[in-house]
Amino acid sequence: MFVDFDGTITDVDTFDALVRDAVGDEIWDSIDAELAAGYLTLREVLMLQASHITKSEAEAIAFLEATATVDPAFAPFVGAARRRGVEVCVVSSGIGPIIRTTLERAGVDVPVLANDVDFAADGWTMTFIDESANGHDKAAAVREARAAGRLTVFVGDGISDFTAAHEAQRCFAKAGRALESYCRARNIPFTPFTSFAEIESALFGCE
Ligand SMILES: [Mg+2]
Repeated sequence: MFVDFDGTITDVDTFDALVRDAVGDEIWDSIDAELAAGYLTLREVLMLQASHITKSEAEAIAFLEATATVDPAFAPFVGAARRRGVEVCVVSSGIGPIIRTTLERAGVDVPVLANDVDFAADGWTMTFIDESANGHDKAAAVREARAAGRLTVFVGDGISDFTAAHEAQRCFAKAGRALESYCRARNIPFTPFTSFAEIESALFGCE
């Protein structure tokens, strides 16, 4: 199972929250409009947005603890998956160290494939996990697992999840977000969800 982090495991997009806090809603909206219109790739947008954030790693984590909530059903879900031999991996275009700390504090220990950052005081510099236009080709991880004969499930909510939704044999899309509209418009079979409790009962039934 490949699971997006921001907006999927958390209620809000943590990277967006950091950027909005640094530059204000107006600049955030103008950068986001360039992405939506296709003038900038997600990779370019992430790089540009990161350059505006000046918090230290500790400050960023403290800010996110006050801003974002991890789905309380995620830790029990990971436990239920593990008992059934299902491997859960987080795939994100966000910042690996921040995601790992956030998950650790929520009592979750799963592998995290994500980008990295240099937390410089004059603006962060992103280091991307691959060369893709999204700054992280989540579909590649799904393809690799399928090629190894695995049954793949993808769980996500946003633009960076579109390509992976095409590759996975089963897809869960957060209700009311971009991935749900995308799957609906392209007839990609998916199950909408609001909490990992629903995914747990959809996949594993009652304990
Ligand atoms: Mg997301």
